[in-house]
Amino acid sequence: MRKFKAESQKLLEMMINSVYTNKEIFLRELISNASDALDKRYWASLNREEISLGGQELALRIVPDKASRTLTVSDNGCGMDKEELEANLGTIAKSGSQDFKRANQSEDIDIIGQFGVGFYSAFMVADKVTVISRGLDADQAWKWESRGVEGYTVSPAEKEEIGTDVILQLREDTETDRYSDYLEEWRLTDIVKRYSDYVRYPIRMLRHKSRALPRPADAPADWQQEYEDYTEDEILNSMTPLWKKNPGEVTQEDYDRYYKERFRDFTAPARTVLSRAEGRVSYTALLFLPGKAPYDYYSSEFEKGLALYASGVLITEKCADLLPDYFSFVRGLVDSEDVSLNLSREMLQQDHQLKLIASALEKKIKSELLTMLRTEREKYESFFEAFGRQLKFGAYSDFGAHAELLKDLLLFRSARMQKMLTLEEYAAAMDATDGEKQKYIYYAAGDEASRLLALPATQQVLDKGFDVLLCAEDIDEFVLMTLGSFADKEFRNVNSGDLGLESEAEKQAAKEAEQENRQLLDAVKQALAGKVKRVALSNQLKDHPVSLSADGPISLEMEKVLSRFPKSQAGEMAKSDQVLNINSQHPVFAALKQAHGSGDEEKLKEYAAILYDQARLIEGLPLDDPAAFARRVAKLMV
Ligand code: ADP
Repeated sequence: MRKFKAESQKLLEMMINSVYTNKEIFLRELISNASDALDKRYWASLNREEISLGGQELALRIVPDKASRTLTVSDNGCGMDKEELEANLGTIAKSGSQDFKRANQSEDIDIIGQFGVGFYSAFMVADKVTVISRGLDADQAWKWESRGVEGYTVSPAEKEEIGTDVILQLREDTETDRYSDYLEEWRLTDIVKRYSDYVRYPIRMLRHKSRALPRPADAPADWQQEYEDYTEDEILNSMTPLWKKNPGEVTQEDYDRYYKERFRDFTAPARTVLSRAEGRVSYTALLFLPGKAPYDYYSSEFEKGLALYASGVLITEKCADLLPDYFSFVRGLVDSEDVSLNLSREMLQQDHQLKLIASALEKKIKSELLTMLRTEREKYESFFEAFGRQLKFGAYSDFGAHAELLKDLLLFRSARMQKMLTLEEYAAAMDATDGEKQKYIYYAAGDEASRLLALPATQQVLDKGFDVLLCAEDIDEFVLMTLGSFADKEFRNVNSGDLGLESEAEKQAAKEAEQENRQLLDAVKQALAGKVKRVALSNQLKDHPVSLSADGPISLEMEKVLSRFPKSQAGEMAKSDQVLNINSQHPVFAALKQAHGSGDEEKLKEYAAILYDQARLIEGLPLDDPAAFARRVAKLMV
């Protein structure tokens, strides 16, 4: 007796003790394994003459046997040799183990139904599972047998044909679970139709039926209808893949179920797209825009791609070239008769047909996203919450090569309307008010929308009647910089020097006030010893004593973001030119003036340092020396 690997053991226990009500999915799992094995055999037979099929049908068979209380699922797929039996069934497959880890964490039993838990799900309905298999190149068949937790045995067995029989010894019925139902033909037919209808190989079962006998010509007057029993070998599944069916025959529920099972997602897709094209290249694409980001989406482990079929035969589960990075969240498949079956996986990249398909899909995906944006706003917004970051990265990457394509899909938070807006909507609202007067499209960048809203500079712009986009993700400002402008208006950070808000007269007055206080302002700058490029006076700050802004191309927020990169990447240029704005209407300015006038250098230095730190705090920037700041403030109070 061999023991299962530790992780497999846990999954097994979970299966054995499962109280999951939808145990019927074990059949789906066994059928799907068999179907994979048939695919493998088919592939192998194309390339190797010695295992050619010779006209043999590749198929599955289900055999219920009430006498022995067993249910057998057979296939003449690739089979397994001794080593494969031990390796594949003694250890849970990688895909399965990841799901299991999650299931274990969430303790959500429903995960069994949603995710492929694979072969072990058989233990939900069986107390003993026997697998008799003969591999492609094996001259001997082997039997794997297990009652679950203790372990399994492997011994030689008899089997003429290549392929696998999985034999389930069904459990005794209980009050809640009628396992003997899985020996009923009607029940099995029903399960297969529900979960495995589109499997491309025939799933056969011998059905016991009864039919009325014809009335004999010389039937007596009191003739009674008679019946006879007969058996018929039936194919239970339609074998037509979902995407090949008439759209009228398929409901959204069918698509949702398919999506959830195939892509192992709890949440139904936000949008399903069936696209058929004929012409330079013919294909059918079934695409899903997920409702939620998978847990590993923003990690390096995530792999984008669509499954690729050549005339219904799966070539690869993930063909990355079919999707651009910025649409990497799309899931689904492409089935094309123009893609050659013999195409090796390495050659896919260069395939001209694939490029045509990819570029058509890109357009299709964009137009579907736009439709969702226009007709299902709420749905789009939650979609954007999950994947907006990826779209923004797309707009920013490759020096903005895709910005034009993606800019209509982006949403930003409006300070004035307190909701998400597209750039087009911002521009429309701007035109509806005083668009002419508005020089720029304003935005504030930082780490939290509520803080950005409270910024003196944001309030200042809002007071003028202009809206501000609150950019709370670090990529946002880089995206706007890449776009440069929208509707002929440049993007402008509210914390940059010139916001174009002041009239000529106001500008003149400000200049004069600065001239008058030149000495004082220079003294403050000097006191700050190179921290700021300029000290300015402002009469727009309302009740804030100071604010910080940036002159030049690098904003305060960008400096913050760039400072997180390693030095070598960001280089030395990643510094903003800071301007300290002092509110000329605020009593602190009078206090500064007084300190300066009385020649108290020390006091002026202290005040300058406090004001500068305050300005940094308002901007959400870290202080160079927080302890010193605290000391200075305390000193003011005593
Ligand atoms: P998964 O299907 O996620 O890989 P399973 O636990 O269902 O995990 O199956 C483990 C492995 O056992 C499969 O990957 C496959 O290699 C092998 N296997 C299972 N059933 C069959 C079968 N009917 N024929 C050939 N190989 C099989």
